[in-house]
Amino acid sequence: MTNRKFSRIIFDLDGVIYRGHTPINGAGAALSKIRAAGYSVSFITNNATRSRSQLLARLTRMGIKASKDEIMTSAYAAACYVKKIQPKPHSLYVLGEQGLRNELRGAGFVVSPFCLPGEQECATTFSHLPHGERSPSAQVLITGLDRHVTYAKLAAALDVLLSGAKWVACNLDPTLPMENGVHPGSGGVSVSLAYAAGKVKSGGRAAGSSFSNIVLREPDFVVGKPNTYMLDLLCEEDKSIKRSSILFVGDRLDMDISFAKSAGLSSMLVLSGVATKEEAKKAKGILRPDAILPTVADLPKWLGI
Ligand SMILES: [Mg+2]
Repeated sequence: MTNRKFSRIIFDLDGVIYRGHTPINGAGAALSKIRAAGYSVSFITNNATRSRSQLLARLTRMGIKASKDEIMTSAYAAACYVKKIQPKPHSLYVLGEQGLRNELRGAGFVVSPFCLPGEQECATTFSHLPHGERSPSAQVLITGLDRHVTYAKLAAALDVLLSGAKWVACNLDPTLPMENGVHPGSGGVSVSLAYAAGKVKSGGRAAGSSFSNIVLREPDFVVGKPNTYMLDLLCEEDKSIKRSSILFVGDRLDMDISFAKSAGLSSMLVLSGVATKEEAKKAKGILRPDAILPTVADLPKWLGI
């Protein structure tokens, strides 16, 4: 891969620019250098816990320059997607955090009041609901990572799903890289809904003897990587973007590299997040990165700047 053909670098965030609340060493300086050399910069993240405004504030706190329109998140993209498929749903049920709800409200949706307005209320139990009522009716269930998930919230989401709602998942990330290891990601949490709403395999053994005896109820649409919807949306919003001149930088083979390959982008793996060098060297097909660097701090040198 020649490193001279790019005009835009798109970065994943978690595990690439920061881990938890800690920026990757040298990330801010590297991004400044890349911008100063004339490259356009965008960020595409599966993380739906924060709105674009909240992510912008976080990057700014870390000393990383960015603007809101450079940030594409699965929360914002989910709001855009729902607007396309169901412009006027009477209500949405959200299993997710304030950032996701804010993006949906920003797109003009009424978000179900159950578990709102703040995270305090999310710790509610069934006793807070009117007698005989378990959850609000909703036409669309939207799931993102919810680090305040409770049994009551999962039960309400399951109710909505079993009532025939469409399920739009912001992403199915199994894990989320943090300073001290990995935590369950959005997929790691919402898979309980897929299992609870699933069907027993015909001819299989008893459902409870193994997870694999249930055919999961898959989401109707997954917004996040490795699906290419967020890039499609970015290109729709900025017609000047040319895929052939994009380098995508990510930390996961299964999410980022396969996303880049599926979207026709050049791909770079950095080793500051989930994937290891050994895994990358063994990877084949759409999981194989075009290039590997220790961290984003090494990117300016690789670009020859
Ligand atoms: Mg990542």
